[in-house]
Amino acid sequence: MIHYTCDRCQRKIETEQETLYQLRIEIDSVAPPEPALDADEQAAREFLDLDETIDDLNPSAEEATDRTPLSFDLCHECFTRYSQDPLGLNSSELGFSKN
Ligand SMILES: [Zn+2]
Repeated sequence: MIHYTCDRCQRKIETEQETLYQLRIEIDSVAPPEPALDADEQAAREFLDLDETIDDLNPSAEEATDRTPLSFDLCHECFTRYSQDPLGLNSSELGFSKN
Protein backbone atom coordinates (compact mmCIF):
# COMPACT_ATOMS: atom_id res chain seq x y z
CA MET A 1 0.00 0.00 0.00
CA ILE A 2 1.28 3.41 -0.91
CA HIS A 3 0.90 6.13 1.67
CA TYR A 4 0.61 9.68 0.54
CA THR A 5 1.17 12.80 2.56
CA CYS A 6 -0.65 16.01 1.80
CA ASP A 7 1.95 18.50 0.63
CA ARG A 8 -0.02 21.36 2.16
CA CYS A 9 -1.07 20.21 5.64
CA GLN A 10 1.31 17.25 5.93
CA ARG A 11 -1.54 14.94 6.86
CA LYS A 12 -1.36 11.30 5.80
CA ILE A 13 -3.85 10.45 3.09
CA GLU A 14 -5.37 6.98 3.20
CA THR A 15 -6.26 6.45 -0.43
CA GLU A 16 -8.47 3.51 0.46
CA GLN A 17 -10.68 5.80 2.51
CA GLU A 18 -10.45 9.18 0.85
CA THR A 19 -9.62 10.79 -2.44
CA LEU A 20 -6.11 11.85 -3.15
CA TYR A 21 -5.83 14.90 -5.36
CA GLN A 22 -2.68 15.17 -7.42
CA LEU A 23 -2.07 18.69 -8.56
CA ARG A 24 0.29 19.24 -11.47
CA ILE A 25 1.35 22.71 -12.47
CA GLU A 26 3.24 23.22 -15.69
CA ILE A 27 5.04 26.50 -16.12
CA ASP A 28 6.02 27.75 -19.54
CA SER A 29 7.99 30.92 -20.01
CA VAL A 30 6.65 32.98 -22.90
CA ALA A 31 9.13 34.91 -25.01
CA PRO A 32 8.54 38.60 -25.67
CA PRO A 33 7.10 39.60 -29.08
CA GLU A 34 9.45 39.12 -32.02
CA PRO A 35 10.76 42.25 -33.78
CA ALA A 36 9.73 42.79 -37.40
CA LEU A 37 11.64 40.58 -39.84
CA ASP A 38 12.63 41.20 -43.46
CA ALA A 39 11.66 38.67 -46.15
CA ASP A 40 14.74 36.45 -45.84
CA GLU A 41 14.48 36.31 -42.09
CA GLN A 42 10.77 35.61 -42.39
CA ALA A 43 11.46 32.62 -44.65
CA ALA A 44 14.06 31.34 -42.26
CA ARG A 45 11.68 31.83 -39.37
CA GLU A 46 8.94 29.86 -41.13
CA PHE A 47 11.39 27.03 -41.59
CA LEU A 48 12.15 27.15 -37.88
CA ASP A 49 8.44 27.16 -37.13
CA LEU A 50 8.06 23.94 -39.10
CA ASP A 51 10.92 22.52 -37.12
CA GLU A 52 9.25 23.52 -33.87
CA THR A 53 6.04 21.82 -34.99
CA ILE A 54 7.94 18.59 -35.39
CA ASP A 55 9.45 19.09 -31.96
CA ASP A 56 5.97 19.48 -30.51
CA LEU A 57 5.11 16.03 -31.77
CA ASN A 58 8.31 14.60 -30.41
CA PRO A 59 9.30 16.63 -27.38
CA SER A 60 13.05 16.73 -27.02
CA ALA A 61 14.90 16.48 -23.76
CA GLU A 62 15.89 20.10 -24.17
CA GLU A 63 12.29 21.19 -24.34
CA ALA A 64 11.48 19.20 -21.26
CA THR A 65 14.03 21.14 -19.26
CA ASP A 66 12.48 24.41 -20.41
CA ARG A 67 9.34 23.56 -18.54
CA THR A 68 9.05 23.19 -14.84
CA PRO A 69 6.38 20.69 -13.86
CA LEU A 70 5.34 20.91 -10.26
CA SER A 71 3.43 18.09 -8.64
CA PHE A 72 1.67 18.11 -5.30
CA ASP A 73 -0.42 15.59 -3.44
CA LEU A 74 -3.39 17.17 -1.73
CA CYS A 75 -6.07 15.91 0.62
CA HIS A 76 -9.68 16.80 -0.07
CA GLU A 77 -9.73 19.78 2.27
CA CYS A 78 -6.53 21.29 0.90
CA PHE A 79 -7.64 20.69 -2.66
CA THR A 80 -10.92 22.46 -1.95
CA ARG A 81 -9.06 25.41 -0.45
CA TYR A 82 -6.60 25.45 -3.32
CA SER A 83 -9.34 25.38 -5.95
CA GLN A 84 -10.99 28.38 -4.30
CA ASP A 85 -7.78 30.41 -4.44
CA PRO A 86 -5.29 28.78 -6.85
CA LEU A 87 -3.01 31.82 -6.97
CA GLY A 88 -2.95 32.31 -3.22
CA LEU A 89 -4.42 35.80 -3.49
CA ASN A 90 -6.21 35.47 -0.19
CA SER A 91 -3.64 33.35 1.60
CA SER A 92 -2.52 36.24 3.80
CA GLU A 93 -6.08 36.85 4.94
CA LEU A 94 -7.32 33.31 5.23
CA GLY A 95 -5.02 31.31 7.44
CA PHE A 96 -5.29 27.58 7.30
CA SER A 97 -6.74 27.36 10.82
CA LYS A 98 -9.52 29.82 10.07
CA ASN A 99 -12.85 29.12 8.44
ZN1 LIG B 1 -4.12 18.66 3.32
